[in-house]
Amino acid sequence: MNLKDKIISVARLEDVVQRYLPLHRNGSLSKTMQGICPFHDDRHPSLYVNVKEQYYKCFACGEGGDLFKFVQKMEGCDFSGALKILAGWYGLSETDDYRPAKFPSVRKRTQPVSEELVSQLHIDVLLRNCRMFLDLLEEYQPEDEMLRETYKAFEVGLAPASLPSDYKNYCNRIVFPIRNERGELVAFAGRYRGETKGTDIRKYINSPTSPIYHKSEILYGLYQAQEAIRQHKFVYITEGYKDVLAMYAAGFRNTVALCGTALTEQHATLLSQYTRQVIVMLDGDEAGQVNGIKSAKLLIEKGFSVGQIILEPTHDPDSLLGRMGREDFIEYMRAATRRSRLEVYEAFLLRNIEQIVSQLHLALTMEERASLFARMIPLHKRLAKVTGLLAHSPVMKADWLLNNLYI
Ligand SMILES: [Zn+2]
Repeated sequence: MNLKDKIISVARLEDVVQRYLPLHRNGSLSKTMQGICPFHDDRHPSLYVNVKEQYYKCFACGEGGDLFKFVQKMEGCDFSGALKILAGWYGLSETDDYRPAKFPSVRKRTQPVSEELVSQLHIDVLLRNCRMFLDLLEEYQPEDEMLRETYKAFEVGLAPASLPSDYKNYCNRIVFPIRNERGELVAFAGRYRGETKGTDIRKYINSPTSPIYHKSEILYGLYQAQEAIRQHKFVYITEGYKDVLAMYAAGFRNTVALCGTALTEQHATLLSQYTRQVIVMLDGDEAGQVNGIKSAKLLIEKGFSVGQIILEPTHDPDSLLGRMGREDFIEYMRAATRRSRLEVYEAFLLRNIEQIVSQLHLALTMEERASLFARMIPLHKRLAKVTGLLAHSPVMKADWLLNNLYI
């Protein structure tokens, strides 16, 4: 083990920091400690020390790093200087296999830092910032018991009343962490807890666009849904965070959400890695329906097979689950899904039959015509069966179901 690893194995960042300044813990279970930042003129404690992951970050001036960086900054020395100081504090010495030359300090670097490296560092800082904010969230339990486990699985939290300046807009909001398809935490959405009608408060706020977060490239829930999409071979596209959570809670885990954007080509490319079968189920209001038709059109252009579930104007999956309860919601979704899949199959059969019909007049011989008819007959039989099934599978009206449930 080299000296650096030896130091890491015995030294705690929070102890090292507290040699210079006092820290206090944010709640007994918190993974972070907080103090006045020594790197800028700090009046409120802006320096956060992540005890679990052993890094620090100032949300005001942006300074951050590990314990070696902290000592370097405080002492104005390079990396090997910080190693020596830390080794002295912890009574560690260099061993024979330790070569200080293996650790060139930043100052001694002769190669210019490449642009690629700089942007990678920038991305690392952004990702680390997101993790730090996640650690600041408090546990949030939705009133609805059905949703509790799901909210936990999706790390939904409550932002505390005071936050670092970067995140102060999230104070007291319910926060939905957003991961990309690789599971990296890239952004947050914060939902206002009170009524926003008649005020100019925004119901949802979002992380700004950054090198790690482009709304047009993120589908909320895709990371959690991947396995279920592969298993069921199709995906539901819904409108919002809470719709994904409601569907997940009811067992329809192959669900993602657009979250306030129109479906883009990047979304389509992303989805095509998992499936080309889609059921679009956006909100029942006009905006949702217009967006649904647009999204379906784009997906069809990209070679997807697309079904739709149209909800009543006043409903979305989250409100339906809340009002119906889990059992009835599952039944409703199953019936609606089945109908949507039958419609897609019906359209597929019709397209095939049309194609054969269009070839009929090109057939020159009786044999050719006979072979075309032979291909058409089984398609017609299947079509008759599907149409019959559809006739016996009425459009499921959520309002109808709800009215009957309460009689
Ligand atoms: Zn600072």
